Amino acid sequence: MYTKEASHMKSLFDKIIDAHLISQTEDEICIKVHQTLTQDTTGTMAYLQLEAMQIEKVATELSVAYIDHNTLQTVTENADDHEYIKSCADRFGIILSKAGGGICHQVHLERFAKPTKVLLGSDSHTPTAGGIGMLAIGAGGLDVATAMATGKYFIRNPKKMKIQLDGIPSPGVTAKDIILVILQKLTVKGGVGYIIEYGGEGIRSLDVPDRAVLTNMGAELGATTSIFPSDSITHAFLKRQNRESDFTPLYAEPDAVYDDTLIVNLSEIIPMVAKPHAPDNVTSVSEIEGLKVNQVAIGSCTNASFSDLMQVAALLKGKQIASHVSLSITPGSSNVYTMLAENGALSDMIKAGARILEPSCGPCIGMGQSPISEGVSLRTFNRNFKGRCGTPSAGVYLVSPLTAALSAITGQVTAPKTAQQIKLPKKFTTNDSFLVQPTCKGEIVRGPNIKPLPDSFDVREIKNVKVGLITEDNITTDDIVPSTSSLLPFRSNIPYLSEYCFKNIDPEFPERCKSMDHVLIIGGKNYGQGSSREHAALVPLYLKVRIVLAKSFARIHRSNLINAGIAPIVFNNPDDYDLITPEMTFEVQGLESAISEGTNVFLTNDKCKIAAHFTGSERERQILLNRGYLNYIKIGGLS
Ligand code: SF4
Repeated sequence: MYTKEASHMKSLFDKIIDAHLISQTEDEICIKVHQTLTQDTTGTMAYLQLEAMQIEKVATELSVAYIDHNTLQTVTENADDHEYIKSCADRFGIILSKAGGGICHQVHLERFAKPTKVLLGSDSHTPTAGGIGMLAIGAGGLDVATAMATGKYFIRNPKKMKIQLDGIPSPGVTAKDIILVILQKLTVKGGVGYIIEYGGEGIRSLDVPDRAVLTNMGAELGATTSIFPSDSITHAFLKRQNRESDFTPLYAEPDAVYDDTLIVNLSEIIPMVAKPHAPDNVTSVSEIEGLKVNQVAIGSCTNASFSDLMQVAALLKGKQIASHVSLSITPGSSNVYTMLAENGALSDMIKAGARILEPSCGPCIGMGQSPISEGVSLRTFNRNFKGRCGTPSAGVYLVSPLTAALSAITGQVTAPKTAQQIKLPKKFTTNDSFLVQPTCKGEIVRGPNIKPLPDSFDVREIKNVKVGLITEDNITTDDIVPSTSSLLPFRSNIPYLSEYCFKNIDPEFPERCKSMDHVLIIGGKNYGQGSSREHAALVPLYLKVRIVLAKSFARIHRSNLINAGIAPIVFNNPDDYDLITPEMTFEVQGLESAISEGTNVFLTNDKCKIAAHFTGSERERQILLNRGYLNYIKIGGLS
């Protein structure tokens, strides 16, 4: 239950929630959402869901549809998806940021994010906008579609952690080094269940794009979101962006109460690196200095701001990169790109031997620039999971733009000792030519790749289920629906994706489901860990999966199953897992009362009787009893 703090004890989160709280129950708080963002790989599904909600126009103050992830358009499916998103944006009153306009989080920070407001985005790095003092949360596409339709979002009451930054960073130490130190201390699990608030004198040495580096990689800490105060530095940033009127101050009270506090002394930090294959596998750059580098990639939503790339240009000016190194530089937005072109920095980069890529996610999501086999790739990105770069045998090292640029010149990992002071112009060039304002009149354009959402199902009709698959512990959403770049153009095509469901675990699974009426999946512990991708619930729904019985579930996937109308139930006795054999059939008794009243559900056959249960909020119970979230909204469940 969310309890209001006394006015002298309010944190940043408390102040924003107090201002925008719509309702609350014991389990959840419902807040007003002012802005939403989608990107193209999650956007198609969100807009299919928005269409199904049959609204006239979005209920938010501002919604933006970005085309930034898969911009290569190497196959027509991809281009058709973009056209569909474009037409939905126009129809429902959503601004479109066309391919080439930039990475959603960078563009949103520059052009739209507002202190003290709430942003919901269908991308896990949406908290980037926390750098400007916004409560910015990443969620599944259906939650974002719901926020567009209703202006509401439900959140479990999180814990609060304060990260106090003391001291001043030494020359050559950047925001990236700071967040890598925090990842080293807290690990990729350290922020789970928390809102992280930054404070302390040290924040005065961080401009908004630097703060956004920390809030961006709060996603790597597992945090719900991260946020900075909105102060004179925020004001100056908005003024440079010609958006001074969007400024609102936001401070935590001196007596604000936190569940945990971490103190970080910036003056003790040295250049850091996250080694393969995890963002928290952090050490100092000096530890691996001298390692030969094959590739350097500068960009991504973490480190592609104007000041980041000006630092890079200053290092490259008049120099040549090592002949064995491939250096790519991706400006984060068309604004950044335009300014680099106008002030000559772009030519400094090109003359040094850099390849300039269009403003998009590109190499970060494996769309181009895969390193050589066994290669060493230095990247300014936020994730270095094995294979994400497109080359499973390569090692990706996450570093600051300074370390990246310097190492490109020397051809080996090199720690920066100094950095040039970049004098920022008073006014930034704002190139909004990639933004398209909606007319709210157009027709929706549905290419052949846009397939309908799978039919919903009433779980109360389930009398019998057959085991379709028995899985181990820690099954990921990638195991359920692979996220390889070859499948990216099919994110709006559930029937096509269904052919790949659990393909790496049991290639026969999709075919077997076709011969079953109601499919049961058996899971071990932490079923559905990994990304928030809701395809991992919608594809099984298409294959007639009705129940997942597991030892435990990953939080977001469990919600996605409920939203899809699939019952996630948990063994009363985890040892019963061993009693179940492939293709066993069960009679299902008591599922409806298990969902509505929390009693036991029994799965019975002549060999065993398995007891299980469902736990969830009242809203989740109603969603499950009403054929999933979409149908629940249609029958007025949120009104
Ligand atoms: Fe995601 Fe990378 Fe794009 Fe950022 S740059 S939004 S991490 S794919």
